[in-house]
Amino acid sequence: MLQLDFRRYLVDIDSVTTHQQSTDYLVIGAGVGGLRAAIEASQHGSVTVVTKGTVEDSNTWHAQGGIASVLEKTDKFESHIADTMRTGGGLSDEKTVDLVVRQGPGLIRQLLDWGCAFDMVNGNIATTIEGGHSHPRIAHAHGDETGRIIAQTLIAKARQQRNITIIENFFSIDLLTTDNKCLGVIGWHKEKDARIIWALNTILATGGAGQLYRETTNPSCATADGLAIAYRAGAILQDLEFIQFHPTTLYIAGASRALITETLRGEGAVLRDTKGRAFMKDYNPAAELAPRDIVSRAILTQMLKTKSTHVYLDIRHFDKQHFTKRFPVISELCDSFDIDISKDLIPVRPSAHYMVGGVKTDIAAKTNIENLYACGEVTSTGLHGANRLGSNSLLEGLVFGRIAGQTPAAPKTAGFGQSTIKFQIPHSELRHLDTSDVRNSLRAIMWRNVGITRKSPEMRQAIDQIRFWQRYVMDKAFDSPAGWELQNMLTVCLLIAQSALARKESRGVHFRSDFPNTDDEHYKKHSEIKR
Ligand SMILES: Cc1cc2nc3c(=O)[nH]c(=O)nc-3n(C[C@H](O)[C@H](O)[C@H](O)COP(=O)(O)OP(=O)(O)OC[C@H]3O[C@@H](n4cnc5c(N)ncnc54)[C@H](O)[C@@H]3O)c2cc1C
Repeated sequence: MLQLDFRRYLVDIDSVTTHQQSTDYLVIGAGVGGLRAAIEASQHGSVTVVTKGTVEDSNTWHAQGGIASVLEKTDKFESHIADTMRTGGGLSDEKTVDLVVRQGPGLIRQLLDWGCAFDMVNGNIATTIEGGHSHPRIAHAHGDETGRIIAQTLIAKARQQRNITIIENFFSIDLLTTDNKCLGVIGWHKEKDARIIWALNTILATGGAGQLYRETTNPSCATADGLAIAYRAGAILQDLEFIQFHPTTLYIAGASRALITETLRGEGAVLRDTKGRAFMKDYNPAAELAPRDIVSRAILTQMLKTKSTHVYLDIRHFDKQHFTKRFPVISELCDSFDIDISKDLIPVRPSAHYMVGGVKTDIAAKTNIENLYACGEVTSTGLHGANRLGSNSLLEGLVFGRIAGQTPAAPKTAGFGQSTIKFQIPHSELRHLDTSDVRNSLRAIMWRNVGITRKSPEMRQAIDQIRFWQRYVMDKAFDSPAGWELQNMLTVCLLIAQSALARKESRGVHFRSDFPNTDDEHYKKHSEIKR
């Protein structure tokens, strides 16, 4: 197990004088995982959900393609299980995969009952196919607005529960722990400043880490806070080297990297290089339907071969009217850049999309810290192994969100909410760096040196550079989210780079040009890091 040392807390703490409140369940994060957990937990006690922005600000809100599940009579659980296991590159845990796949249909129908407007056909939930799936099983809503529709359903359901309180603009800085037991969180509210929330059970659901990379599909909230918070508290982090890059994000220099869902490839879109050649068959017999890691690497290789910054997605043969209805978000995006999909090609390139690794949890969503549970993208449950099958993550969030919220809260012991925690940061003698400059440079070096294709010298260079920045940033006491986010990003980037360097093989989404083969003898196992 890798071990790296950092300061325990990012801020000074005096639990006696800080403004405080208590709750049975504290849920950190309001994406699919956190909201589903909150709704479940509200049956057992009081729930406080905190989120660093508004409830709309999450990866969940941006999910496009859909949610995978066995919804058709001709499909089978065994087939979804086999597809997930195959994509996971030997590291998926069969028991977890079995659990998630079998709970899928019930939880999706429950969403439908709660008002989630999935697209329907003849009274049934409509499904489509995506790369890596051997059967159409991707349910979608409002075409490519699946995430927003699911999020809105869960937000509405959560708001209907009398014992759920949602606090927006609350930045969770650190979990409070004593003797490997989680007691709640210290955070910062935009208007109310520092605040402690004591909780019997804490559920971490802070989502992804795409912002660690210069090129990403993730919204600005995805700065890996949960991973860093959990790490400082002593949680085991697993498989951090596995980061999924999405093959197709719109590439227009200067514009943010909007995702072009792979459902388009499922429905016949063709990838062409800048010379107009359809190249995917050169790399994999499944061509455009090959798993994401293969398509991402193929695009990168083809970009190098043709000395270009991007390739193209060709949907000129699509029925434009159907496209506008089926993919309203992408349609609007193309229009806004004057791309006429019936005549023009769409410029795309890969970008960081999904954090496969995360806080290690068991089948009951428990971490190694007492009273700390986790669900959603921040976790490593064993579902995805070394690679995530498309549309399995919303499903994982629903399943483990419910499980995390199901566990009865720890019993209230005498003195609950009265722990004394004091922590003081020594004054830093070192110079201040420009935090926004470090943030941009960090994201750039992660993209270049710890990105889609990795090799030892580049990763070592990244590690040295991150360590240098850490000396000047980690010893400071910041008083606003930008500083804490940078400290979290530096923490997690180092852990990712260390994990990637240590895995001297290629597996799933982790590809090393200096070790291009899979080495089952030495590496068919999870990697773990603990403070
Ligand atoms: C563009 C895009 C398209 C996608 N498409 C699909 C798809 O089609 N199908 C699919 O299955 N998956 C898809 N995914 C992945 C999927 O959306 C995510 O994995 C999933 O929604 C994660 O849910 P979550 O609840 O774990 O986290 P999120 O939805 O990211 O929610 C995280 C929450 O934690 C909060 N938070 C973070 N840090 C802090 C902090 N320090 N303090 C307080 N709160 C904090 C955030 O504010 C947010 O409320 C897509 C992702 C993206 C970005």
